Amino acid sequence: MIRFDVLTLFPEYFDVMNLSIVGRGIQNGHIVLETHDIRENSIDKHKKTDDYPYGGGEGMIMPVQPIYDTYRKVKSQIRPEEKSIFIYMSPKGKVLNQEIVKDLAGYDRIMILCGHYEGIDQRVIDEIVDMEISIGDFVLTGGELPAMVLIDAVSRLVPGVLAEEAGYENESHYDGLLEYPQYTRPYEILGRKVPDVLLSGHHVNIKKWRYFQSLMITERNRPDMFEKLKLEPKVLKEYEEFKKRCGEI
Ligand code: SAM
Repeated sequence: MIRFDVLTLFPEYFDVMNLSIVGRGIQNGHIVLETHDIRENSIDKHKKTDDYPYGGGEGMIMPVQPIYDTYRKVKSQIRPEEKSIFIYMSPKGKVLNQEIVKDLAGYDRIMILCGHYEGIDQRVIDEIVDMEISIGDFVLTGGELPAMVLIDAVSRLVPGVLAEEAGYENESHYDGLLEYPQYTRPYEILGRKVPDVLLSGHHVNIKKWRYFQSLMITERNRPDMFEKLKLEPKVLKEYEEFKKRCGEI
């Protein structure tokens, strides 16, 4: 079981997490997802959650007080034996990848802060944030969608969330490779047939075909990932021959 506590100005965003696989994980008790409205904790008489930046410049900044007070309430509910982390979703953070996702799946409690406007007062980051995470090299209007991306990716690794047969070990990024092509019925459609090897019942050849296809896709789409693979000379030679046969076993 894993618990996410999200600090946000827009708790309504997270209603969609009640759908599909994550929603089922919540219903089955494998995932707990609580949102905490930062605005409710603002001591400003108008419940303001933005202010002008010192030094001038465009846009508004989320001040420390409502965030810090929301954080303290959430933190006080965490038991000492629970492994917890406080994450700020930020375009300035480390870019999320499957390795970070796997690491986060090992926590009992994940607190996530969603920023808005031009971001948050740096003192929040200095005081309470353990890790800043970005979901890519682009800027969104708020941290809610990034937080949902993170929650979805981590939730899939929580035991019991995915159906037994839909394991993640063969998926893209799990072991530094992209996934091989997948097919389902019918055998032929749009003039395209399923590769014969997949109907052969020859499990060794199927495994080999899938592995070499994974290598081909990774080399073509993500040369940066391919370069990091340390393929043995024997495997490399077999792979080069597989490519010469245009991906046929
Ligand atoms: N002024 C900030 C900057 O240049 O780094 C951008 C602020 S952005 C408009 C508002 C909020 O959206 C951020 O505080 C963050 O929580 C969220 N956000 C935007 N892009 C993101 C990304 N790529 N990954 C994670 N969070 C993001």
